[in-house]
Amino acid sequence: MKSRYSVWKLIKEGLGGHTGWGPAWRNAAPKASYDVLIIGGGGHGLATAYYLAKNHGIHNVAVLEKGWIGGGNTGRNTTVIRSNYYYPASARLYDFSVSLYERLHKELNYNVMFSQRGIITLAHSRHDVEAATRWVGAMNCNGVATKMMSVPDIARRVPFLDVSATARFPVLGGFIQEKAGTARHDAVAWGYARAADTLGIDIIQNCEVTGFKRAADGRVTGVETSRGVIGCKKVGMAVAGSSTVLADLAGFRLPVTSYALQAFVSEPVKPVIDTVVLSLATGSYISQSDKGGLVIGGALDHYPSYAQRGNMPVARNVLGAIAEQYPALARVRFLRQWAGIVDVVPDSSPIIGTTPVPGLFMNCGWGTGGFKAIPAGGTLLAHHIATGAPHALAEPFSLERFTTGALIDEAAASGIAH
Ligand SMILES: Cc1cc2nc3c(=O)[nH]c(=O)nc-3n(C[C@H](O)[C@H](O)[C@H](O)COP(=O)(O)OP(=O)(O)OC[C@H]3O[C@@H](n4cnc5c(N)ncnc54)[C@H](O)[C@@H]3O)c2cc1C
Repeated sequence: MKSRYSVWKLIKEGLGGHTGWGPAWRNAAPKASYDVLIIGGGGHGLATAYYLAKNHGIHNVAVLEKGWIGGGNTGRNTTVIRSNYYYPASARLYDFSVSLYERLHKELNYNVMFSQRGIITLAHSRHDVEAATRWVGAMNCNGVATKMMSVPDIARRVPFLDVSATARFPVLGGFIQEKAGTARHDAVAWGYARAADTLGIDIIQNCEVTGFKRAADGRVTGVETSRGVIGCKKVGMAVAGSSTVLADLAGFRLPVTSYALQAFVSEPVKPVIDTVVLSLATGSYISQSDKGGLVIGGALDHYPSYAQRGNMPVARNVLGAIAEQYPALARVRFLRQWAGIVDVVPDSSPIIGTTPVPGLFMNCGWGTGGFKAIPAGGTLLAHHIATGAPHALAEPFSLERFTTGALIDEAAASGIAH
């Protein structure tokens, strides 16, 4: 049994030379078989394993991760958490996730540094303002509190933003979701891993799934991995940008395209921005980490790719847009840039539930915005695996919607896609 993290433990360890901290999770070796195997040690996979044990009492579970946990998009994102979605189904899903984030540090006994500093979405044209007004109306009907902001409101909250009439991207207004914010991405992965391990789940890193074992009736009975065959009764897969690769191995196709999405972090500077600001015209957005780095993101790279690098034209566009909007920050130096491979679905909404292979469940299609959904995505996938039926919140997000046409086109409705 692990000791709880607390201020008392910190003081005790501080006085005692820090010799009493145990590993946060075991480095488990694979057993011959499990009740459930989860492929993918990102936030969604780890959360699914945790909720299988916690909500459904299923403890004989392993998470199989080809690299290190959190090494995929979960450790590469810009950490924005919000629920300002247009359609009721999305608003319910993401608002549920935000509510789980609000108590995640207590639930996991791990400081995920969730900071509800708000997100401001900027409107740069008359049309943006109209779209934003419609969007705010829809969100408030959906129970997600948001409000329009005037230009002086925005200028007060974001002093470095150029709101002058001659600005390259003039600001005509915007809106804010106050309870949105950011969290520490690694901590979300590590917190779920530690809590799952405490409940008896095996976290197996450096274990790549390379194939599926099937019974004569097609049901999945195990997986082939770089560490041998592992048997199971059910499999849940949460592999984001690798979803199509795994689906190929299982013998079906997904309406998912993988793209590189880049992030950029500057040298640390004094506090200059205490919220998240997103520009509808440029797609670029900025916040500041607790260490002082400016954290910046923007649009997808222009072509599909499985390379975790990202290309120069997009980097130039995103950073150029930020420099135009925040001229005072134009000479800040950038320390780091990276990319993750995001799983983009035509209607910019996730896929949660069953696959054409009996016993194989999945959670994917979060695209550029699945960090905010980790607690909800894990809860819903665990529910479906454990009970065999979709959670009410997951029903609209089944794979079948691509044959029935019941799509939830968030990007088209709200004008942005991250
Ligand atoms: C630059 C960037 C910025 C982003 N910004 C935001 C943001 O601000 N807010 C937000 O909500 N979302 C954001 N996202 C999206 C978000 O990061 C993802 O939607 C989310 O992290 C997906 O989590 P996941 O657990 O599904 O996938 P991942 O974290 O990618 O985990 C999948 C795991 O599966 C493993 N895997 C793959 N294939 C195999 C295999 N064959 N065998 C075993 N393991 C395998 C991978 O190694 C990986 O660790 C951003 C993404 C990027 C790249």
